[in-house]
Amino acid sequence: MNKRIFLSSPHMSGSELGYIGEVFESNYIAPLGVFVDRFEESIKNYTGAKNALALNSGTAAIHLALRVLGIGEGDDVLASTFTFIGSINAILYERANPVFIDSDEKSWNLSPFLLEKYLKECSKKPKALIVTHLYGQSADIKSIAMICKEYGVYLVEDAAESLGATFDGKHTGTFGDFGIYSFNGNKILTTSGGGMLVGSNKEWIEKARFYSTQAREPFVHYEHNDYGYNYRMSNVLAAIGVGQMEVIEDRVAKKREIFEWYKELLGDIKEINFMPELPNSRGNRWLTALTFAKTDYRKVMQALEEINVESRPLWKPMHMQPLFKDAKRLVDGTSEELFSKGLCLASSTTMSYEDVFMISQKIKETIKA
Ligand SMILES: *Cc1c(COP(=O)(O)O)cnc(C)c1O
Repeated sequence: MNKRIFLSSPHMSGSELGYIGEVFESNYIAPLGVFVDRFEESIKNYTGAKNALALNSGTAAIHLALRVLGIGEGDDVLASTFTFIGSINAILYERANPVFIDSDEKSWNLSPFLLEKYLKECSKKPKALIVTHLYGQSADIKSIAMICKEYGVYLVEDAAESLGATFDGKHTGTFGDFGIYSFNGNKILTTSGGGMLVGSNKEWIEKARFYSTQAREPFVHYEHNDYGYNYRMSNVLAAIGVGQMEVIEDRVAKKREIFEWYKELLGDIKEINFMPELPNSRGNRWLTALTFAKTDYRKVMQALEEINVESRPLWKPMHMQPLFKDAKRLVDGTSEELFSKGLCLASSTTMSYEDVFMISQKIKETIKA
């Protein structure tokens, strides 16, 4: 049996261990240290974000964004329904109400049309929108940002999956009031676990920095006027992040190449539709995602499992989750349809053309059978 091929495995650059060695030599194992600063700098340089704050997860980054924006009990917060729950949980932490908006077919991401329709017709004005750039593909973020501005809704970009993706040459995560990235184990880069909050408002990022370290006032005796969290990234993990950032463009290029290989090998099959990429955008193609018009995706999953290859259904939309059965929503069936037909294929940057060829062959056989 071949070695298991994962959806998206960690892929080190080779510099990480050396940097971790420096951390150990300096004995700044924890909590902070020069690598945390260097990691924040490298994210700012790469994405063009004005300010950055390294945290222990992407979820923590979303939570701090909502906290700084003053989202509280009973507030409505709009969100993409077609996403991972990590995008939504922080709304619940603040006892606010998620309101789910469906995707459009052009981007598989949040529909600007439905967003505007909701804002025009709603009786209670939402305070913020959390929009996900799904599977590393940019949403129609310029239109979405314009609508948010017009209606006075704060914009938080969940770019957990989309580091390196751009729209009109500008990085996802830098259009909104806040953007977040994740460095969880399966993302395009990983620090084994971690996140980053970015934003152009320096005061807001400083406020988030304050909340992320237990809201300690600047006194040696630990004075507290407010409550916070223990959300900062450790210096050891930031050292991994600095090593990973050296190869971000190589990783984006490889993810995009893997997508092109699948497209070359499967693109002729009529019933297969690949996730689109909006004009003027460059996705990082974190996962190659597609739908089957006729074949049951579960059959394909099972066939791939037989050759020890991981695949996953597309995210189950949030408005279909039992947890959110009573949540407000504006949906038109788009994400439900995608969920019923779609699959994410193995897209690890460690994969070779032969791996993609073998997987594609198996998919072709399964469709014919
Ligand atoms: C991974 C992910 C998150 C959460 O990031 P963590 O670092 O795992 O907390 C949030 N939103 C989306 C869309 C994600 O894929």
